[in-house]
Amino acid sequence: MFWADRVAKEIINSEKYKPYKVDEMFTPSGFMHIGNLRGSLVHDLMYKALRDAGESPVFTYVLNDFDPIDGLPDDLQEFSKYLGVPLRNVPWKDKEYESFADYFASDMKNTLKKFGVDPQFLSSWDMYHEGKFNEEIKAALDNAVEIQNIYHEVSGSQKKAQGWYPLQVICPNCGKLGTTRVYEWDGETVAFKCEPHMVKWAEGCDYEGRISPFNGNGKLPWKVDWPAHWKVIGVTIEGAGKDHSVAGSSRDVARELCKRVFKIEEPFNIPYEFFTIGGKKMSSSKGVGLKAHDLFDLLPAEVGRFLYCRTEYKQEVNFDPFETMAIPDLFDEYDRCYQHYIDGTDENFGRAFELSQINKLPVKEKTFLPRFIDVANYIQQPRIDIYQVFGEIKGESLNEVERDILEERIKYAKVWLDGYAPDKYKFQMTNTVSKIAESLTEDQKEYLKKIIPLIKQEISAEDLQLKLYELSKERGLEAKKAFGAIYMALIGKESGPKAGWLLQQYPSDKIAERIEEVTR
Ligand SMILES: [Zn+2]
Repeated sequence: MFWADRVAKEIINSEKYKPYKVDEMFTPSGFMHIGNLRGSLVHDLMYKALRDAGESPVFTYVLNDFDPIDGLPDDLQEFSKYLGVPLRNVPWKDKEYESFADYFASDMKNTLKKFGVDPQFLSSWDMYHEGKFNEEIKAALDNAVEIQNIYHEVSGSQKKAQGWYPLQVICPNCGKLGTTRVYEWDGETVAFKCEPHMVKWAEGCDYEGRISPFNGNGKLPWKVDWPAHWKVIGVTIEGAGKDHSVAGSSRDVARELCKRVFKIEEPFNIPYEFFTIGGKKMSSSKGVGLKAHDLFDLLPAEVGRFLYCRTEYKQEVNFDPFETMAIPDLFDEYDRCYQHYIDGTDENFGRAFELSQINKLPVKEKTFLPRFIDVANYIQQPRIDIYQVFGEIKGESLNEVERDILEERIKYAKVWLDGYAPDKYKFQMTNTVSKIAESLTEDQKEYLKKIIPLIKQEISAEDLQLKLYELSKERGLEAKKAFGAIYMALIGKESGPKAGWLLQQYPSDKIAERIEEVTR
């Protein structure tokens, strides 16, 4: 059984998580990166697996837009005066977006939509301002000592000074949230101070006063806010990256808070593994990796989705597209699952394909899939008709679906060749004899001389390919060495695209001249 279906079954069989409310969150303080998409897709798959099991799940996505700006990348330093201010209260550069949060949340929503992730988005800022967190704020303030004990027991953190409360308020004087310290609670209002030196990244204004903690004046710290919003929304299924789930982490704190403060059952946990690029964990601040929306320039949305679907949540997804075969390999695996989807031989693979689709599912009929790496090879040979070549490979001309697939692959193969492919996959006849041609053996040179009459014949690329092969057999030269000789002479590499097609890209005189040069 496909992993998401298996987990959904586990949830249903336990009878503990009804109604099924799947939830995930995102802090719109920067662009979503391709590592964040793992969480989006894990939750989307849970939602869809429950739905496909005949249940009626709900999928919400909380935007943590009440959080303060607590750091900025180099290109956003103009916002440094807003450090400490909630993301929703910081104006964006132009009027098109309502706030700093709105700008990044809009990008994230568009990205998810293109990926076929369509949850109900909820704003933390709005929920607090609508008073939906009032009851939980009161519970947290009333249980301030208990919450300190939980922090201490679970994560071993030092006990805070007396008069610590799990809340921050927006300073009415300077508008900052990240700098305020609440030190008293009388059941209706809290006393607070806007501290100049409490955090390194923002400076408070020294204002001191009393204020109601409710209706958006204050926000719970993240570790308390997380289980509080489970209660407010009624979340029953929510996972997080496994760093949040190791012993002593925020998940353990949240579990105790559910039990001892908010009096709810902990949602079903899905501690998913990281998404890495070349083994490195994604990090927006270090500029490692790609923004989530960049993935569409690289891959069709369905193949992008497949990258996340195919791997069970407990396993790391490693995707390093730079100068590697990661993209062609991904297409190959996608095709393998596509075939299983069509012929139904392996439910696991078929289901991975099915859940990767965004619009309607393709019809289950025999479909020829032009291999991505071959597409990349043929498009480097501009004189051939690629639709015809794949028709020849298939044995009959491509149907409409197949032509569409090929058209899409041509587009992405160009992207791959331009920006990502290893050099050895880029083929072009070199302008001068490449150094590698010096290592041609006498046998290879003899073989090359014999192909000159063949390339002067008016025959199809396929026939030429066949004759090149027969010639190698006749001469007792291994096919790999024979074709290798052609590549070494023409493109300066030991391997290359199908030689019959490659040779027909260039005037036969030009090739003959090159062969004479390398066989002298
Ligand atoms: Zn202040």
